Amino acid sequence: MNTIGHFIDGKRVSGDSERRGDVFDPATGRRTGVVELASAGDVAGAVEAADRAARTWRDASLAKRTAVLFAFRELVNARRDRLAEVITAEHGKVLADAAGEVQRGLEVTEYACGIPSALRGGFSENVSTEVDSYSLRQPLGVVAVISPFNFPVMVPLWFVPVAVACGNAVVLKPSEKDPSAALLLAEWFTEAGLPDGVLNVVNGDKEAVDALLDHPGVKAVSFVGSTPVARYVHQRGSLAGKRVQALGGAKNHMVVLPDADLDLAADAAVNAGFGSAGERCMAISALVAVEPVADALVAKIAERMGRLRTGDGRRGCDMGPLVTAAHAERVRSYVESGIAAGAVPVVDGREVDPDGDADGFWLGPTLFDHVTPGMSIYTDEIFGPVLGVVRVGSYDEAVDLVNANPYGNGTAIFTNDGGAARRYQHEVEVGMVGINVPIPVPMAYYSFGGWKASLFGDLHAHGADGVAFFTRGKVVTSRWLDPRHGGVNLGFPTQT
Ligand code: NAD
Repeated sequence: MNTIGHFIDGKRVSGDSERRGDVFDPATGRRTGVVELASAGDVAGAVEAADRAARTWRDASLAKRTAVLFAFRELVNARRDRLAEVITAEHGKVLADAAGEVQRGLEVTEYACGIPSALRGGFSENVSTEVDSYSLRQPLGVVAVISPFNFPVMVPLWFVPVAVACGNAVVLKPSEKDPSAALLLAEWFTEAGLPDGVLNVVNGDKEAVDALLDHPGVKAVSFVGSTPVARYVHQRGSLAGKRVQALGGAKNHMVVLPDADLDLAADAAVNAGFGSAGERCMAISALVAVEPVADALVAKIAERMGRLRTGDGRRGCDMGPLVTAAHAERVRSYVESGIAAGAVPVVDGREVDPDGDADGFWLGPTLFDHVTPGMSIYTDEIFGPVLGVVRVGSYDEAVDLVNANPYGNGTAIFTNDGGAARRYQHEVEVGMVGINVPIPVPMAYYSFGGWKASLFGDLHAHGADGVAFFTRGKVVTSRWLDPRHGGVNLGFPTQT
């Protein structure tokens, strides 16, 4: 059995802990490996290695740091197919989708290659007579990145390239459900010239997370995962004096106004609802149909769903399995509770005939109509291929519904009315907004993050926020000796 360990101080290692977790191929249901679940001692070893490395890496020139990032970018680009295969084998998403995730991670790496511009400070000459002032941004030291199962490459790459470009050392704790891709990324960073210890990977579960949150050597934590855990990580990490950004779960609404292009909206709803089997924090799970469009829109979506092929991600299917048997069972129980609550199952994913092994973790795409805000299929983040249509009578009702939701990650509006779209982007209380774009994931040079229960902390991921998160500001006021001295003056310094 393939045992998946850690990557510490430039090499793959085994830890002291004897606890293990199972890793599955979701398309076959077979156990393909066991992952080591780190103890607090294993985590301490990784933090020590990172701390040693951080002391010299912080002084590496910007030229050296960018050379490493460019080399890493080239390695990942050349090996993107291999990385996609590793993602699909443990996560289950179809290969094309896995390749898309690699691409988004590469884009953040490319952004980090431009770190010399992003780290430029300001300079003011003669703020007082012969006194200059300038600002610097310096690294924090050791930072932790804790990632979810659903993007085993993209989410680590939202943070790691920016963190190391800023001069920090990283301890990455990937999801124990699909741990292998992170180890490859760390190996390839080393191959690209990153000094040993600057990027370490510790596999594990809550025990490893708690150890990172409590370790005094960890200065900042970037977390992505479900809302309850994000809230907990933010509270515990903040209490320990760390800087924390914790991105949580979502319930993303797509509003369709009566004047929208319904074919475009139906394509978008299917893509954003069922891509990656709905296991995306930017998936659309609530479709808000402003009447009278619902009947026509539901018919168009159902017709498209009839053509979707669910099956093994290596066979050219549209949608793969869910990540674990337990998660597939949980999503299936939501389908049952939706029916029990009176929602109308237009397409029932339980009846799927997958193109794959009978033991895979299958559930086909499900479409519910006549969903109401009190139903659990509306209130909860299901994180599966279940799309619910809520019918409303007006734009105002639609925006009130979206704003009443506790989550605020992404949203989209479909309309041909520029004024309505502009009003929506202004009024909606959500961090990322799409206008006739269903999954408005910002490019790497903007920052990714939601509002309300979708993000705890102040700064979003990558872009300018990422650089701000992984650095501390410092302002220097300097005066070079000059023959004219001002003499003793105990007054508060002011400009002269
Ligand atoms: P999760 O919260 O179960 O796990 C995330 C990480 O936290 C993993 O590394 C896991 O090992 C660790 N963890 C799990 N339980 C913990 C606990 N009790 N204490 C400490 N650490 C714990 O999330 P997941 O199931 O891996 O990922 C899916 C979730 O992530 C969804 O809710 C999704 O919306 C969210 N997500 C959000 C974003 C975003 O940008 N907002 C992006 C991707 C995923």
